[in-house]
Amino acid sequence: MNEFIKHLNRIEVIETMACTGHCKHCSEGDHAGFTDHLDGTCAAKAIDEICLVYNIDSLMVFGGEPLLYPEDVCKIFKAGKMARIRRRDLITNGYFSKDKAAIHDVAEKLADSGVNRILLSVDAFHQETIPLEPVMTFATCIHNAGIKTELSPAWLVSQEDNNPYNVKTREILRLFMDIGLDMGVGNVIWPEGNARIYLKEYFDLSKDYVNPYEDDPKNLLSVSIEADGKVLKGNIYQNSIIKILEDYKP
Ligand code: SF4
Repeated sequence: MNEFIKHLNRIEVIETMACTGHCKHCSEGDHAGFTDHLDGTCAAKAIDEICLVYNIDSLMVFGGEPLLYPEDVCKIFKAGKMARIRRRDLITNGYFSKDKAAIHDVAEKLADSGVNRILLSVDAFHQETIPLEPVMTFATCIHNAGIKTELSPAWLVSQEDNNPYNVKTREILRLFMDIGLDMGVGNVIWPEGNARIYLKEYFDLSKDYVNPYEDDPKNLLSVSIEADGKVLKGNIYQNSIIKILEDYKP
């Protein structure tokens, strides 16, 4: 087994980089012009193959906004469930349609797919460009469908800081808690992508900020399948995922 990957325990899937939000804190920057999305069948096959070799404990699907492609997302979670991955999380901003029937349908499909936690990104930043009403409809539908859902806000400076964004975020969170959703830990914004441009007054840019989500390249714990199929130095549309992992060098 490749010595740099022998502790692999997590698969991340970026379903698409297209997004319905235009958030000023987004670490990925501007999402304009992205049209790719990952084929769910192909991603499911890769997950299946990885799980035959590695002891994967966590599967996380995110974007962009992954629910722009709900059928593919559901195929990915079904594969995760079949492969007995214990934690199967979806991160979504909850806004992919304004049509109540379509939102309800996606919630029902998700409940059936094997996702076992949804992290709903709602806060002052998301709600600057994402309307509240369809997100609340979605939140109500997934809650009623019995999917464990946690509110996952982005905090500026820290969760305790009382800057105007955090004050607004607390107001928004109360609306979602009123429909019965639980509060999750969320995350603290670090200066990357849009945040480095639009929120720079909140950071000391002479300081080195460490990306909390980056792995040691000599000991990868997680592997990320991108929206165009790229993984490490290969692509699941062209190469065997196991061969890609075997060939990896930092
Ligand atoms: S923070 Fe999330 S919802 Fe906002 S633009 Fe970035 S990916 Fe989209």
